Amino acid sequence: MADASKDKDYLMGVDLGGTKILAGVFSEKLECLGRSKKSTKAQRGPDKVVERIATCVADAIDECDLEPKQIRGIGIGAPGACDPETGTVLFAPNLVWKHYPLKKELEKQLGLPVFVENDCNIQALGVFEKELGGKPKSMVGIFLGTGIGAGIILDGKLYSGFNRTAGEIGHMVLQVGGPKCGCGNKGCFEALASRIAIFGMIESAVEDGQKTLLTDMLGNGLDDMRSGDLRKAIRKGDKLVEKIIEEAAEYTGIAVANVINLLNPQVVVIGGGVLDALEDDMLAVIVETAHDYAMAGTFDGIEILASKLGDDAGITGGAVLAKRHTK
Ligand SMILES: [Zn+2]
Repeated sequence: MADASKDKDYLMGVDLGGTKILAGVFSEKLECLGRSKKSTKAQRGPDKVVERIATCVADAIDECDLEPKQIRGIGIGAPGACDPETGTVLFAPNLVWKHYPLKKELEKQLGLPVFVENDCNIQALGVFEKELGGKPKSMVGIFLGTGIGAGIILDGKLYSGFNRTAGEIGHMVLQVGGPKCGCGNKGCFEALASRIAIFGMIESAVEDGQKTLLTDMLGNGLDDMRSGDLRKAIRKGDKLVEKIIEEAAEYTGIAVANVINLLNPQVVVIGGGVLDALEDDMLAVIVETAHDYAMAGTFDGIEILASKLGDDAGITGGAVLAKRHTK
């Protein structure tokens, strides 16, 4: 629990997703002291979502027996392109937001300084500071979830690119003429290895009459399928699921090789819900494939690791962002 000091010693991280909002209160040393969770209800529009974020933040502060004035700053990750200088969400397809002044609106509600970044950038920051102690010169974090994104850290700082959209690794084309992606292109990494892609491949295999234990576990409609169900099926010897996950891991390995050829980062960290559930089935394949595809001599000493932060990567990174801006 937090101590009774009234100093501004605490940081707040918020992870704004398409379906849920997570908020966490952190100490200066990035220990999570308390958290809260709320559904996003994006269909109610941005102003209502901001009210829900404010409630979620207030709940997390209350959970820690703190007062809002003890929070030094709030770092928030939004699922889309963001302008960190103005705190505007430029484009967030999952929320259906365009040019929304998130920083301004949230500061109005909370009366605390707010800093906005892209969600994958923020997750990468969280992994970099909390798991790696901020030590590597450079790191790329790749997050395999509903979609796929990355955050790039060069010389200890986030690299966001000319239009602030760097790290859109999910739309790197890995299979020319491959499956259609949500972005309109074909054969994107995200269309081959994201949760949506993996579940889609399993569903069409079942429609084609292929056998999987998942239908015994979840019924023929594969209702409420989760990444953890895939792990259970593989443990029970499900060859179909094993093959689909192995292929997703191979594509991830090829993406990692491309990243290593392009940026030569000291560390590549893989995270996100799909990897959290299937690390034992994916990580070794990812590392081996990356080795096979990276140009000779580019790989020496580079580490490829799985993040252990899971769902906490976003809120932890938010706290890091707030810490970096309020020193
Ligand atoms: Zn795409």
